[in-house]
Amino acid sequence: MIAGIVLIQAVVFAILSGIVANNKNRDPTGWGAIGLLFGLFGFIAAVAVGEAEEVQSSSRQRSQPSGEEEFDPDEHEKKCPACAEYIKLEARVCRYCEHEFTEEKVEEQIAQASEDFREKREVKKQEEEEKASVKEDMVVPGIIVLVFGGIALLALLASG
Ligand SMILES: [Zn+2]
Repeated sequence: MIAGIVLIQAVVFAILSGIVANNKNRDPTGWGAIGLLFGLFGFIAAVAVGEAEEVQSSSRQRSQPSGEEEFDPDEHEKKCPACAEYIKLEARVCRYCEHEFTEEKVEEQIAQASEDFREKREVKKQEEEEKASVKEDMVVPGIIVLVFGGIALLALLASG
């Protein structure tokens, strides 16, 4: 009975170690073997080492912004105030109703659209960072629940 429990917990921690290692871009087979040999301690080692790796890679990503989209007025439109049709942002004359825009007005519209574009991009970036941090925050409590759930289950099996 005891040998069976030891075997089950070894396999469980081998699988958990492998999953954690795989999620952190580490060798799942090697870490699975460590989990199999050292059980809970191998698993904790896989989690600790994996996290250190992740913090490193995410700070590397932050210091190197990957090719950010630049504002291109060609890809933006404005609504003509006279005929309510959408026309190119840089247009000085509406192609539908020939409504004219002054040069200052066009420049102002481009500046406004460019600012909106940057704001939206910032909001998007913040949302992505929040999502990423929520994901990271869930890893540790999830693991703790798993480990204690596993221990409770093993204790239950041992007493029964
Ligand atoms: Zn128009």
